[in-house]
Amino acid sequence: MRDIADIRADFPILSRKVYNKPLVYFDNGATTQKPQCVLDAVDEVYKSYNGNIHRGVHFLSDMSSEGYEGAREKVRSFINAGRKEEVIFTSGTTGSINGIAFSFGERYIKPGDEIILSRLEHHANIVPWQMMCQRKGAVLRVIPINDNGEIIPEDYHKLLSKKTKLVAVTQASNALGTVLPIKEIIEAAHSVDVPVLIDGAQGIQHGFVDVKALDSDFYVFSGHKIYGPAGIGILYGKEKWLSELDPFQGGGDMVDKVTFEKTTYNQLPFKFEAGTMNYPAAIGLATALDYVSGLGRENIAAREKELLLYATDRLSAIKGLKIYGTSGKKISTISFLLKDIHQYDTGMILDKMGIAVRTGTHCAQPVMDYYRIDGTVRASLCFYNTLEEIDSLAEGIEKVKSMFG
Ligand code: PLP
Repeated sequence: MRDIADIRADFPILSRKVYNKPLVYFDNGATTQKPQCVLDAVDEVYKSYNGNIHRGVHFLSDMSSEGYEGAREKVRSFINAGRKEEVIFTSGTTGSINGIAFSFGERYIKPGDEIILSRLEHHANIVPWQMMCQRKGAVLRVIPINDNGEIIPEDYHKLLSKKTKLVAVTQASNALGTVLPIKEIIEAAHSVDVPVLIDGAQGIQHGFVDVKALDSDFYVFSGHKIYGPAGIGILYGKEKWLSELDPFQGGGDMVDKVTFEKTTYNQLPFKFEAGTMNYPAAIGLATALDYVSGLGRENIAAREKELLLYATDRLSAIKGLKIYGTSGKKISTISFLLKDIHQYDTGMILDKMGIAVRTGTHCAQPVMDYYRIDGTVRASLCFYNTLEEIDSLAEGIEKVKSMFG
């Protein structure tokens, strides 16, 4: 892997100060910072070749369309999808899950059918399914977790039944960092002919994703969590599903022929991309994926493992600090609480030291309910963080403790 100072220099924001202190950015689970090449790629679209995609015969429209379709191919190759027709651009993970929950529900779900989720899900992988269940009279079933914040596989197997129509689980918990055994989850579901959606919002940033090897039916993620722009996301779906499902939105570009009596839809992937898509962000995302590939995904994983181990050691040594999420398989995310100090106070004081952490429920209230807490402080680390920054966090936490006596 390249030298860390050199890598950090790629990210302009990392050299800024907040409250006159060097920024320590530990909120990568919420969104990642962007390297200059991504900022340049988006800028270049607007500066040099902006034109609406798939619509014009003119030069600029052609260039934008080429950039957008080139971005689709980059995403295909990054996640190892079989065909680029299986890669749909959306607004993000939330947009992708809402879309699939709607289309899948309309097509296949009947009263009494069941959808299995885990207790570790982000609200984005709960609420759209709940809304669909309400519409269709279906039922959500939830895989329970243990005190380490891991799902209980035997309970998952017990939940799978003839009533199960889909399993939707996260690759990694954003609240605790737990990595789920998604390969095993998919295999078990497929053994009873049930398709699986993987929420890759966290997983994509830290892990290897090979949708073919996983045999995942759907895989969704957001561009902004993998060093790309906000407002763009991916819905990968196996062609057999996407060709059977109806679109979740109607509008321009997703149609073949429109009359007031009847509309026929465009072919894949355009059938699921209604209206003007965020093509500059798609092009920025492709640049981000190139950047990640350039650093090397093995290198990133190795570096983040080192950061996680170091941070876990440093934080565990702090008296009165409790880590939530103690699985042996984690992304580089640490959730914690200080005894008798509210998470919000900890976060506010760390902020004044220039240290950005997340506080609250992390859009995962069922996880917080499990531990009977109202939130945690979360430090989510990625490859551009340093051991020195982890030291600053540990020292900052000690200061918070001393302020509260
Ligand atoms: N799923 C998980 C596991 C997440 O961590 C997040 C965001 O934190 C989401 C879904 C929602 O992502 P977005 O807000 O980009 O749609």
